[in-house]
Amino acid sequence: MVVEPKVKGFICTTAHPKGCEESVRRQIASTKKFGMVEGPKRVLVIGSSTGYGLASRIAVTYGYGAGTIGVAFERESNGKRTATAGWYNTKAFEKFAKEDGYYAKSFNGDGFSEEIKKQVIECIREDFGQVDMIIYSMAAPRRTLPDGTSVSSVLKTVGEPFTNKTIDLRTNEIKEVTVPAANEEEVRATVQVMGGEDWKDWITALNEAGVIKQGAVTLAYSYIGPVVTHAIYKEGSIGHAKKHLYDTSVELSEQFANIGLRAYIAVNKALVTQSSAAIPVVPLYISLLYRVMKDAGLHEGCIEQMNRLFLDKLVGDVETDDQGRIRMDDYEMKEEVQQKIADVWDGIDSGSVQELADIKEFWDEFYHMFGFGYDNVDYTEDVEI
Ligand code: NAD
Repeated sequence: MVVEPKVKGFICTTAHPKGCEESVRRQIASTKKFGMVEGPKRVLVIGSSTGYGLASRIAVTYGYGAGTIGVAFERESNGKRTATAGWYNTKAFEKFAKEDGYYAKSFNGDGFSEEIKKQVIECIREDFGQVDMIIYSMAAPRRTLPDGTSVSSVLKTVGEPFTNKTIDLRTNEIKEVTVPAANEEEVRATVQVMGGEDWKDWITALNEAGVIKQGAVTLAYSYIGPVVTHAIYKEGSIGHAKKHLYDTSVELSEQFANIGLRAYIAVNKALVTQSSAAIPVVPLYISLLYRVMKDAGLHEGCIEQMNRLFLDKLVGDVETDDQGRIRMDDYEMKEEVQQKIADVWDGIDSGSVQELADIKEFWDEFYHMFGFGYDNVDYTEDVEI
């Protein structure tokens, strides 16, 4: 079948198997350039198929020489529809890792469920004995709770509605968007989905099974961002969940001090991923950020961020801010970067956006996420989906 991109709003409903393989191959090549450093050798990655989780899995495999167990929730092809990008990425990653002599096993299912946790624990017992690193990089729209009820996360403000500029991803026009305020229940549900509860459930279950090695490290990812996005992100419903995630990191380090577990939040840079493209205001900010950071020679994608996290910041004495967080957004938040964005934000409109923002890079990265737009992939060719 010839696979073409079908974009609907902020999502592409098709994915290209060969293009996804190319995306994984390029990320692996980027990590290999760094060479190896000493690090954990048995790593569990929860949310391992796309975005920051996939880049983490690649960085620890090719940077530490680690074996990895991955968990993700992806859709397989039914023969007519393509699989999701994360499904193809996982197949491609396993293929490359095995060819290069690294252990790689993946579970496809609901990471919130007890069932997947049990299967993963069994696998760790049999194949690893124990893990020395647990990366929690799940970004999900909803969660089925242990009692069977389902809760959904929302991307809303807390308190007052918020109006600001956004980019209409169908037309590249700059428009105003009003983000409504979440009610208490929606905030609570967002915290249940994207906060630290499930991270803690994983660590607790792994510890009870005795499969966490003494002195292991666990990481989860967060975002803070500039003032223009605070109402929708840092102070919004997702920000409440991220605060809970941070509080959980402190709690985990205390609660599991007996096994020397160190829990960190890495505050990552804003990037195009399937999750971030869905947040109002953020894609416009990201395309401005790309322009400014590229001009300053500071641009990084998921894999560059994760290479710097695992091969630099986490090696030796872990570099943190005064709250114990690892700041991967250090370049993004540089004053000169933020000032340049603030200078143009108020005046930007549909006429000037092409010049001031790097819309091309935004769309290139968007298509790359689904395996499209690589110059060395023949998209006219029939492929096995
Ligand atoms: P993503 O959408 O690319 O990846 C999400 C991953 O979670 C995928 O592997 C997916 O399969 C998995 N997943 C979703 N639901 C699942 C479920 N029920 N069970 C098992 N796996 C499930 O997202 P991302 O942007 O890489 O986000 C990862 C983390 O990084 C999140 O905590 C996010 O908030 C954070 N972060 C993202 C950005 C950004 O700009 N994208 C910036 C800073 C921090």
